[in-house]
Amino acid sequence: MAGLNTAQQAAVDHRDGPLLILAGAGSGKTRVLTQRISALIAEGVAPEAILAVSFTNKAADEMRERMVALVGKKRADAIVLSTFHSFGVRFIKEEKAALGLGQHFVIFDQGDSLGVVKDILRQLRESGAARKLDPMAIQARISKWKNEGLLPEDVPESDFEYDDIAREAYPDYVDRLHAMRALDFDDLVLAPVKLMRQNDEVRQKWRSRFRHLMVDEFQDTSKVQLELVKLLVNGFGNVCVVGDDDQSIYGWRGAEVGNILDFDKHFAGTRIVKLEDNYRSHAPIVSVANAAIAQSAERRHGKVLRAARGAGDKVRLCVTVDPAAEAKLVVGELRELAKQGRPHADMAVLYRSNLQARLIEEELRAQAVPYQLYGGTKFFDRKEVKDAAAYLRTVLNPADDISMRRIINYPPRGIGAKTIERIDAHAHERGMTFAQSLARVDEIDAVPDNSRAAIHALARLLGKARHEIETGGKLVVTARSLFEAVGLRADLEAAADGGAQGQIRYGNIEHLLRWLERYENKESREKRSLQTFLERVTLRGDPEDESAGEGVVLSTLHAAKGLEFAVVFLIGCVEGQLPHSRTTDPKVTDATTTDVEEERRLFYVGVTRARDRLYLTRAEKRLFRGEAIKLTPSRFLDGLPESETETYTRKEVEPLDFDEIADLARAFLDSQRSKPEVR
Ligand code: ATP
Ligand code: MG
Repeated sequence: MAGLNTAQQAAVDHRDGPLLILAGAGSGKTRVLTQRISALIAEGVAPEAILAVSFTNKAADEMRERMVALVGKKRADAIVLSTFHSFGVRFIKEEKAALGLGQHFVIFDQGDSLGVVKDILRQLRESGAARKLDPMAIQARISKWKNEGLLPEDVPESDFEYDDIAREAYPDYVDRLHAMRALDFDDLVLAPVKLMRQNDEVRQKWRSRFRHLMVDEFQDTSKVQLELVKLLVNGFGNVCVVGDDDQSIYGWRGAEVGNILDFDKHFAGTRIVKLEDNYRSHAPIVSVANAAIAQSAERRHGKVLRAARGAGDKVRLCVTVDPAAEAKLVVGELRELAKQGRPHADMAVLYRSNLQARLIEEELRAQAVPYQLYGGTKFFDRKEVKDAAAYLRTVLNPADDISMRRIINYPPRGIGAKTIERIDAHAHERGMTFAQSLARVDEIDAVPDNSRAAIHALARLLGKARHEIETGGKLVVTARSLFEAVGLRADLEAAADGGAQGQIRYGNIEHLLRWLERYENKESREKRSLQTFLERVTLRGDPEDESAGEGVVLSTLHAAKGLEFAVVFLIGCVEGQLPHSRTTDPKVTDATTTDVEEERRLFYVGVTRARDRLYLTRAEKRLFRGEAIKLTPSRFLDGLPESETETYTRKEVEPLDFDEIADLARAFLDSQRSKPEVR
């Protein structure tokens, strides 16, 4: 087994019993995990008896690629290698009956579940039980409880209004989702846990299925994810987790760093392996990372991180006048590095929030540098794509009220708000779902005839599509003709600006259809279904085959976790951006926001993504409502080792723009005027 040091080898060789690999960034944790799987398979462990959980789809894909290289495609495909969420989907599908879910269910993304929360809040407001509250804050609380494994009856009372209302809304939220046969993202983990808590038979079945469990990025697991792991661990206690407490960056979403810090308390007899050599980065990058994280104010597992790769370029600190100049500097460097032969995809621009990507994107486009976005607005988040998917979801699962509401009068077919209210009221009186009430629109007197006709017409189209799918027709054919028949294309093309925008947007729907077609051609007849396709669309958010791009990577710091690049630009190193203002503003007291120490760890994650060269950039001022605001350098730049960093400016002289020339001319004229007269 080439390419492993003694400690790594020991972790790979460890057999029965819990194992924790706790080590800093770039020390080969993920590599140990993949090598371990390969060693187990070589010894005869069946690939399907190994469950390996990774944090993001991208990380799971990457791990799968490495596994293919190590053990071949056939065996790699048999390993249960997924994220917690996609493992949950697999579990739920198998246990549909025990979960009381019926044939089809739908996965709600954040937007869908926010819609449910809004509905509940509206009712509470109308009944006078609550004032106007921020639905997102309520949703965040419910989500947090779910991540802690708390069911509605477990949530303690509170005097704080938001907690109190969220607690009141939670059971209603659960009931509504159940009535719609819907699961939100949190349910994908919570539902399996809940079932295995109650049902020994199911638990035994799943426990005996896996001989080895492995979890990457364990520092970012939530309480309920830990519980899932505990429920699945077999009698040998074969659970191996790897992580780095210094890279815990999902506290705001319910991650529990205690899971890794106290791992040996959760699993008796844990063996702990520490890795101390960083194989990823040159020494200056490792020193900067060490210096930044050493200033953390929190409980840490003290770790040493030595640079195995030795000396290299100093870390470059860049200051520009404003963010536009920052973008110019970054893109100028990228172009030059590409000219020197660095592949675009091996360079990344990382930032705290998606908004920061805009200027960089503009500049990349202006200079014709190819790029790809990670963790930005997902394809599936576009309105027209969600509308189209909502049609497919209602076809599949008529109980999905959220989708039904979305399409009931879109494209407009004359079903007004009053009619919808009446259908709602009818549903409420009879204890039915919206869709059930809709199906009985003939019983509701107050609905005008034309609306009634429109509802029937829509129901016919949906029914026809459902029939086609149930009788084994081609999904893409049905979907395309449904979108035409309901007038999605016509509506988009009738958009205000002469249809150009509409065509782009219909193009996105076409893209979805192509994705469906590809899926249908790839999957075997038994395996493919509209349900599975929609699951993938919701969980991945982006078309699979096209995400592996060739361009420079633009990514949020969060989405870059676990990845590595030859060159990294960490932009926006100013107070307010990194750390984000939400974490430093004393006015924000929301319990669900993070603290500044999590921002420091985010900075650490960013720094440690770089293999060969790292740029930390910041602007001195920015425009806000027409006024220039001075920016303060990020506190995370304090105390970095001077011997390992250098101030860097691009030598290339930028051509002046018109305003700058005008300014210079004015200054020149002024200076002429004040000069004494020369005779
Ligand atoms: P992170 O904390 O960022 O997830 P990690 O600890 O998972 O990092 P890996 O991604 O597994 O680290 O490894 C970092 C890099 O070091 C990879 O390019 C890997 O191939 C390389 N590497 C790991 N171990 C060795 C080794 N023993 N010899 C040479 N290269 C190694
Ligand atoms: Mg890793």
